Amino acid sequence: MKYEKFKSGPETDIQFLKGIGPKRAVRLNKIGIRTINDLLFLVPRRYIDRTKLVKIRDLITQTEGTIYGKVIASDVKRTKNYRDIIRIVVGDESGILEAIWFNRPDLKLTFKINQHVILSGDITYYGHKQMVNPYYEIIPEEKSDDSPFVYTGSIVPIYPLTEGLSLWEIRRPMQNAINLYLNYLNETLPKYLLDKHKFDDIRSAITNLHFPKTIEQAQNARARLVYEELFYLELILALRKLLATHEKKSRALIEKGNLTSKLLHLLPFKLTQGQNKVLHEIKTDLARESSMNRLLQGDVGSGKTVIAIYASLIAIENNYQTAFMAPTEILAEQHYLVWHERLNKIGVNTCLLTGSTKAKDKKKHLDKIEKGMIHLVFGTHALLEEKIKFHQLGLAIIDEQHRFGVMQRATLLNKGVNPDFLVMTATPIPRTLQMTLYGDLDVSILSEKPPGRKRIITRLVTNDDREKVYQFIQEKFNEMQQVYIVCPLIEESEKLDLASAIKTYEDIKSIFSNNKVGLVHGRLKSADRIMIMEEFRQHRLDILVTTTVIEVGVDIPNATVMVIEHPERFGLAQLHQLRGRIGRGVQVSYCILIGSDNKFSPAYERLRFFEKNDDGFILAEKDLEFRGPGEILGTRQHGLPDLKIADLQQDRHILFQARDDAFDLIRHDPNLTQSENNIIQKTINNKYKDRIDLASVG
Ligand code: ADP
Ligand code: MG
Repeated sequence: MKYEKFKSGPETDIQFLKGIGPKRAVRLNKIGIRTINDLLFLVPRRYIDRTKLVKIRDLITQTEGTIYGKVIASDVKRTKNYRDIIRIVVGDESGILEAIWFNRPDLKLTFKINQHVILSGDITYYGHKQMVNPYYEIIPEEKSDDSPFVYTGSIVPIYPLTEGLSLWEIRRPMQNAINLYLNYLNETLPKYLLDKHKFDDIRSAITNLHFPKTIEQAQNARARLVYEELFYLELILALRKLLATHEKKSRALIEKGNLTSKLLHLLPFKLTQGQNKVLHEIKTDLARESSMNRLLQGDVGSGKTVIAIYASLIAIENNYQTAFMAPTEILAEQHYLVWHERLNKIGVNTCLLTGSTKAKDKKKHLDKIEKGMIHLVFGTHALLEEKIKFHQLGLAIIDEQHRFGVMQRATLLNKGVNPDFLVMTATPIPRTLQMTLYGDLDVSILSEKPPGRKRIITRLVTNDDREKVYQFIQEKFNEMQQVYIVCPLIEESEKLDLASAIKTYEDIKSIFSNNKVGLVHGRLKSADRIMIMEEFRQHRLDILVTTTVIEVGVDIPNATVMVIEHPERFGLAQLHQLRGRIGRGVQVSYCILIGSDNKFSPAYERLRFFEKNDDGFILAEKDLEFRGPGEILGTRQHGLPDLKIADLQQDRHILFQARDDAFDLIRHDPNLTQSENNIIQKTINNKYKDRIDLASVG
């Protein structure tokens, strides 16, 4: 019955591959291998070179080694805290070696006396030679007589396998898959690129990936697959960018100066050189007939908002509207509160649209927006609602854009006819991510902060230091400064967390009974939240106990101390954003993390690192290391491409090459019509189509 669905090509369900069957198929499905094709493209994590097999006697401690021998003893030892330690002793004609595994209960029944095994790992010395958690492979009975090489060749790939599925069970099926299905694979890269990088053709690459003769062969095969994946990703970005810049905006927004010059007079400061440079880049884009697509990246507090406002005014001078979208209500409210009066003075009408805007007000706003009576709309995702129609949207701005998904960006852009597009972020994006995630955007970087900013001192302390922390806060009050106390509020346990924020608020109120304490969190009504934030801004409150609602964008320069409770619950990027709320004035600021001094907790290293570094770029790179690219952007819909083979960190050199090649190609053959590029056209359609769809909305 099942066989009705049986396909003959490599798209065949993996369970029908000879040597797999339904049971193993389930385990393979777990690691995303559903078809024979998936199996062929399963990239080994590493390789063991068995030609480097040594005698046990010749193993050198502190180095890596691989041996072949026989199991002479095997036991399981239970430690005091009920963990099993698996131990075996293996011997060859030259000596014996002990191998032990921690935390591998699955290995309990694995090893039997007289079995032949290959072990590979670091050699330690503990009264005798030892390997801890080595890679192992059991050589089946019938093969163990001759030599361990016969069956598998001398370079052995190690796959990222699910527990309980041994390498052994995958070698044979892999060989079958290659024998039967390799000829179905079509080349996906043009010959000139294969030649340029000395890559194997696709069939040799897949063969060499699984059955390499040398380590170099294996590496080259993997590099080819990584390159291919990144090349097509970059190609799509290049196409997207081409599309964006070719799209006829058919208007040029040229600065007239009647509004922008007034803005400069309104500001209590002069723009920095860095701000002027970025503005110049933006003005040049706006003045073009094609749409701007620009990412403005500047660390927390570097002064991006005023640049966005300036750009808005250029659009407004040209009778176009601007939409300014922020990820949180608190931030949208702040932008509105800070700017609406000032802008009103120079004849620019603004309004605020968030999820909390009252229906009655909203109706009024929508009407005015549609008639063009409102020039600049601040808001949250609420701006994306279908009902909201602009008279003439010329510029769309997204603040803290890493908080938004690709679809949301696209929806905002669709509110106008090819509007110019400015996105801003303080989350410094490592270059590798920038190339993949925002490869279609031009990037401006605001590297300096406004003058006079003092350092932020960061300290990780423990609960025992709480008294001292409170004394310190008292001193700061005496110097007329203000304090944030941040309690985590993480979605999964929102209720509990909120309770703890409220409790902290009560505690703080009783400890600082002579001071004014406020509390904000996401559950407050908008009007109450606006009021409390305003009170804090006007320094009618000394302490603000808060959840992470203030994480991005909030700008109250007189607040110079931030205490973060449970800092271990935050990632580095998030901590950096939070810390960015202080250090915005001319005083030295202090960020105090009340955490655990347990050196073994996984967060400890991260927090220590955070304590010592305040460079957003360095923190972002580190975050990438700690948590991987998906997490770093702090949102599920970050639009990060789902890379199957490439690792952005490890393979960044290949990424740079792939990017250059892709962008070069699009410059020379934008429509992919040259015959040598036919293959690219075809591959996009066959293999990378899902990514194109993403591209067309972005
Ligand atoms: P971010 O880049 O984090 O969005 P903001 O735009 O909120 O930063 O600016 C941070 C603070 O710096 C604001 O209070 C803003 O008024 C101030 N600021 C911006 N530009 C300058 C400047 N050139 N000189 C002095 N202060 C500035
Ligand atoms: Mg900001």
